[in-house]
Amino acid sequence: MDVTIDPSSGFCFGVRRAIEQAEDLLDREGKLFCLGDLVHNKSEMERLERRGLTSIDHSAMKKLREAPLLFRAHGEPPSSYELAGKNSITLTDATCPIVKKLQERVRKAWMEMKESGGQVVIFGNPVHPETIGLRGQTGGEAIVVSAAGDLDAVDPSLPVALFSQTTKNPVEYKQIAGELRKRMKQHLASGEVPRKVYNTICGQISGRTPRIREFAASHDVIVFVGGSQSSNAKVLFGQCREVNPGSWFVTGAGEVAGEWFEGAGSAGVCGATSTPRWLMEEVAEKIRQLTNSRA
Ligand code: SF4
Repeated sequence: MDVTIDPSSGFCFGVRRAIEQAEDLLDREGKLFCLGDLVHNKSEMERLERRGLTSIDHSAMKKLREAPLLFRAHGEPPSSYELAGKNSITLTDATCPIVKKLQERVRKAWMEMKESGGQVVIFGNPVHPETIGLRGQTGGEAIVVSAAGDLDAVDPSLPVALFSQTTKNPVEYKQIAGELRKRMKQHLASGEVPRKVYNTICGQISGRTPRIREFAASHDVIVFVGGSQSSNAKVLFGQCREVNPGSWFVTGAGEVAGEWFEGAGSAGVCGATSTPRWLMEEVAEKIRQLTNSRA
């Protein structure tokens, strides 16, 4: 059986960079705390835990003193940096440089909006760490919207600076921006309330949907590897299913079944942005074993 791993699947640059930083520290120190899970993948987290990584939440961080701690790629609000300083924590900031830059832009826009009496609006998931980190740049004043209905909280008569969490769907962001424009125009006949829409969706993510659809359509059977809790995995698997009904979701090699490949000539292995490459390789190897033993 011809088995191919999708070259575009797996960790984005920001997550890969954070893992490398954690591994370097673990090599040197043997132990490291991480604020939140470094990656939304159980198998990868277990691998890092075996090397000495411990995930802690914000309330556990309050009790941490003089210990090595890593901030993951999603970024943190200013309050986490203040706490790290207060508790003499040795901090490694693995915030993705793209998120860091976005945090700076949100902060700058917030200062400008303060002067003009406007509002900073963030299209994102209010409980997602990146969005919490972005909102933190505005002293908690930014309005977070996750659907068009949430725009009721935005005053259409005042200027707006609109941002998106880097991992949101570009089509949905466009819809939110369009709905906001409509509301602001309806409010003033001239439609001239200042409104800036910042293009802040990460290119590492926005290109994945068309690429994974193309990959899924070009194989007889698709095995998608992802974490059961990962929202990105659900969305990307849905895309595979749409173009290839012979698509299967697994969290690891042990779930692959030989009967999926009966009569198939090719299999493709792909995954989410949180799926480690080694896990996709294990799955590909399992497919080869199952299909070769039948041949
Ligand atoms: S999705 Fe983009 S912005 Fe977010 S961590 Fe990955 S590379 Fe950075």
